[in-house]
Amino acid sequence: MLSNTGQNDYSGGSFYQTDNQLKRLFMQAQGLIAILRWREGICEMINPYFKNLLENRDVLDKPMREAWPELGQGFYEKVEMVFDTNQTVNGYEHKFKIDLADGQDAAELYFDFVYSPYCNQQGDIDGVMVMGFDVTPKVMARRQLAEQQLLFKDITDAASTALWTVDARGNITFVNHTWINWTGQPYEAHLGHGWIQYVLPEDRDRVISSYIRDVNRKGHYAVDFRVLRNDGRTQWVAATGKPRYLPCGEFAGYVGSCMDITDRKKSEQLLKDSEERFRSIADSAPVLIWMAGVNKHTTFLNKSWMQFANVAQLLSDSGYLQSDLIHELDRDRVLDHYSNAFDNREEFYLEYRMKNNEGHYRWIGMKGVPRTNTDSTFEGYIGSGMDITDMKEHEQIKNDFIGMASHELKTPITSIKAYIQLLLSIYKKKAQDEFLLKSLTTVNNQINKLTRLITDLLDVSKMESGRLSLNSEPFLLNEVLKEIIEEVQHTATHHDIIYEALTEPCTVHADRDRIAQVITNFLTNAIKYSPESDRVDVRVRINAGEVQIAVQDYGIGINPTEQAKIFNRFYRVEGRNEQTFSGFGIGLYVAAEIVKRHNGKVWVESEKDKGAAFYFSLPLNTGDV
Ligand code: ADP
Repeated sequence: MLSNTGQNDYSGGSFYQTDNQLKRLFMQAQGLIAILRWREGICEMINPYFKNLLENRDVLDKPMREAWPELGQGFYEKVEMVFDTNQTVNGYEHKFKIDLADGQDAAELYFDFVYSPYCNQQGDIDGVMVMGFDVTPKVMARRQLAEQQLLFKDITDAASTALWTVDARGNITFVNHTWINWTGQPYEAHLGHGWIQYVLPEDRDRVISSYIRDVNRKGHYAVDFRVLRNDGRTQWVAATGKPRYLPCGEFAGYVGSCMDITDRKKSEQLLKDSEERFRSIADSAPVLIWMAGVNKHTTFLNKSWMQFANVAQLLSDSGYLQSDLIHELDRDRVLDHYSNAFDNREEFYLEYRMKNNEGHYRWIGMKGVPRTNTDSTFEGYIGSGMDITDMKEHEQIKNDFIGMASHELKTPITSIKAYIQLLLSIYKKKAQDEFLLKSLTTVNNQINKLTRLITDLLDVSKMESGRLSLNSEPFLLNEVLKEIIEEVQHTATHHDIIYEALTEPCTVHADRDRIAQVITNFLTNAIKYSPESDRVDVRVRINAGEVQIAVQDYGIGINPTEQAKIFNRFYRVEGRNEQTFSGFGIGLYVAAEIVKRHNGKVWVESEKDKGAAFYFSLPLNTGDV
């Protein structure tokens, strides 16, 4: 409180010496100071800081209200109040608008005022001293905070996930609109522990215990649960929370979110259902079903598999295809084949012996196909196997029979052929009985056919039992081709075999007789299956380290659907046309097996009724087959 001299001490420019210091203080003060005299509020003194706000308007010795009405009604009312009550009055955050230069927006300043009675020596009030303190930074900071809070509210309200905060004791202190919309309950209903009412009763214990555990640990919080929605639907959410710390390091609770994962849960459930369905189908199937992961190791075996091998559970780490159960004579072959097929993501079929629950080996026919997920990523293999022991045994009996029968037939046929040859050579020289000569030639041709058939049958039996041996040696392919073409041409009455011979010698390292057998087979088929035409073409090409031989006819042709099957044992195309040709369906099988054993390839290009071109290729650089 200022001391009062009782006179017009602070008028205009005249001061008593004793007050000089005080005056300087007023004048330099960084707050607003003014003294208003009498009820009219004549400005008796105003410091430069205050005056500056008035744009240095001249208010001295004038009633302030008239000189500076913009200061506002509130300001003058307070001055009057002090005059009437002789009491100090406070005014807060009085706003001043200050025009800035260069057309910038007016700045706003805020001042808190203290209006104090200014008394004469008798103690009667005859003025009011006004002091103002700049509180602009405080007002601005508060305004900024309010804006930030509003922004936070807008952001949280706009979020499609539910957001929440929890204090250090685990009480919910905030939930956003999303959570309120889901539950249809007002904000307050969720505060504290209210939110738990909107968790499905079956999930509550689990949610609470994990909540308590995580809050106590002050660790990250994560739990899935179902929310009871206002519209009666049950909604799955994934709640996650992150611990919050004050700048001083003190734990302040959590901030977190709840994401709607209903769709994800639904698809997880669908997947689970379909897996269960697959499992029950697989378990009820009488075949051995298995699955392997990308590392080739088995991940699933069905019941039949477990029963077959008498295993209680998956022998996953025991390796590929349960290798310890495979017969040791088959194991390397099977594992190599499996591993190669797997690496190339190819389908495979294998036959091998596997030990069953009684310790006996059974033949299994096992097929495997690569598995991919919806985005085509490789996921491993799925396969199935069947006990083919009985089939194998029957096949063995059949093979043994074919072997034995063809062997037994060969001896009399050889003898008949020898006699026919003898007779032919005798009667050719004499040349008297034309009919006899013709008959002998026909018999000789038929015997040749029969011999070829028996040889083929014997070969099939040898191949099946793994007894077909190859006598590989280097020879000139040109010569063999010429020889065989001449031989076949000799017996062919209607066809010309047109050979586009190689200009340079071509040596291959192979079994000469077997390669001759393949060429003969292709040529006799070409003639047999093109009765309406009179031409067969033979072409040879050398290309990229291999030699390719093609036999082209212009006959009945083969449907594309049949083309892969005709190389199978005993396979013959069915059709009215085809039935008129005799045969056993083994020639191409034998030819294909011979070529395969030479590391070559066999294929056909054809269209129905447009002839067929049969090809085989042999590698040129291979020494061992
Ligand atoms: P087959 O003794 O029946 O001729 P193959 O194994 O030689 O036995 O041939 C198998 C089947 O392939 C034949 O039955 C026939 O239907 C078909 N085939 C073979 N060669 C030809 C060809 N050049 N033209 C049309 N069909 C052919």
